[in-house]
Amino acid sequence: MNLRCPVCRADNTAGPTCRRCKADLSLLIEAEACRSRHMALAQYALTSERFEEALEELAQAEGVRAGSDVQRMKACAYLLAGDFATALGMHSLAPG
Ligand SMILES: [Zn+2]
Repeated sequence: MNLRCPVCRADNTAGPTCRRCKADLSLLIEAEACRSRHMALAQYALTSERFEEALEELAQAEGVRAGSDVQRMKACAYLLAGDFATALGMHSLAPG
């Protein structure tokens, strides 16, 4: 897990305090763990073809922190669900 310190912007690979400024990163670590859990549940839902559930989990993950990984998995969910127009929309929104 790579965490950017919100105080000094240092990249941290271990917590619970920032290696540079010693800011408490434990809440950030908790939030990232929560996000990872939602991403994993979304992936599991997708492999079981439960697309609605996958999108709900992805919305939860996005609520914690948006990112290209969420956008990518959302596009996959729409593709697998047969909603090609929305999937294409996600693709054009994705950065890079
Ligand atoms: Zn810091």
